[in-house]
Amino acid sequence: MSQSSFAVVGAGLAGLACARRIADAGHAVTVYDKGRSPGGRMATRRGELATWDHGAQYFTVRDPVFARLVALAGAAGQVEKWRPRWPGGEQERGDLWVGAPGISALPRWLAGGLQIVPGTRILSMVRAASGWVLADDRGGESGSFDFVAVAVPAAQAAALVAGHTVLADRAASIVMAPCWAVMVAFERRLETGLDADWSPDPVLPWIARNSSKPRRHGLDAWVLHADAGWSREHFETDAARVQAALLERLAGRLSVELPAVAAIEAHRWRYARVDKPIGEPYLLDRPGSLALCGDWCLDARVEAAFISGDRLGAELARG
Ligand SMILES: Cc1cc2nc3c(=O)[nH]c(=O)nc-3n(C[C@H](O)[C@H](O)[C@H](O)COP(=O)(O)OP(=O)(O)OC[C@H]3O[C@@H](n4cnc5c(N)ncnc54)[C@H](O)[C@@H]3O)c2cc1C
Repeated sequence: MSQSSFAVVGAGLAGLACARRIADAGHAVTVYDKGRSPGGRMATRRGELATWDHGAQYFTVRDPVFARLVALAGAAGQVEKWRPRWPGGEQERGDLWVGAPGISALPRWLAGGLQIVPGTRILSMVRAASGWVLADDRGGESGSFDFVAVAVPAAQAAALVAGHTVLADRAASIVMAPCWAVMVAFERRLETGLDADWSPDPVLPWIARNSSKPRRHGLDAWVLHADAGWSREHFETDAARVQAALLERLAGRLSVELPAVAAIEAHRWRYARVDKPIGEPYLLDRPGSLALCGDWCLDARVEAAFISGDRLGAELARG
């Protein structure tokens, strides 16, 4: 087999799964990410008093390839089952899995051995005679590459490949909803009989006691995810107001007086969840030497991101 050189833009689970397949087939692959470490929306914030998974909360496993990966990660001590007290949680099919000690453990483990360039946002791509050359926000240029796989949220993917492929229009048609996430740690335990709850609340649909996940240390820590419509409406609201609004809603929802806050942070996810996915595992333009993958191709779930990247990687590795 002749060796090709690949660039993958985005080191979320989709990009990592794609790169893994390509590397395992013996090709050269370099993964670029604007973040300091891999994982994307499988993110863990580490504070002095607590830790929080402020993006993906847990994942479920149905696909046999993903199941194999999760089994291997489990054997390596990177993932564990989470058994929250969650009224209604039985609606989720199967076990709830989390990374340990944080949800980011799974992508970090998957990234092991891959050539990853962190802290580097790819701004544009040029197709030179020798192949693709990528320009980044540090003033650098990388390449040339035979093939580029873009594994970032749909709108960002569309902007990057615009003018290079007709796939840009399909990516541009995808809407992804925002989400305000508030991370709070209380000085003493919040007395309530649940660790997680979802309800069709117009402000605060998801609450979870992050410290109920396995191998978490520190204070009683909670993650509050605001509703997509509310997040869109309050996207420019300052973080302190968002924190106050969601805490007030938490108290009202649980009918409790909240303990004193020991630490609080907020994070604004611009592209949290896909509304209507493409419905295909990935988008491939072979003559253009370009492909797109990510959760937005299939579903707003960790497993869908994995399947998208894994299937694209398998296809590209075949040559
Ligand atoms: C608030 C929230 C809650 C969620 N809850 C759950 C849940 O409970 N269960 C579940 O299964 N899923 C959940 N999800 C969805 C899940 O997190 C995603 O489906 C999955 O992590 C997406 O992976 P991805 O690789 O497709 O994209 P991402 O994880 O977004 O990865 C894309 C990567 O590309 C990088 N990037 C973007 N642009 C560039 C650029 N120009 N140059 C370089 N790098 C770039 C980003 O830094 C990022 O690391 C949630 C998501 C959010 C935000």
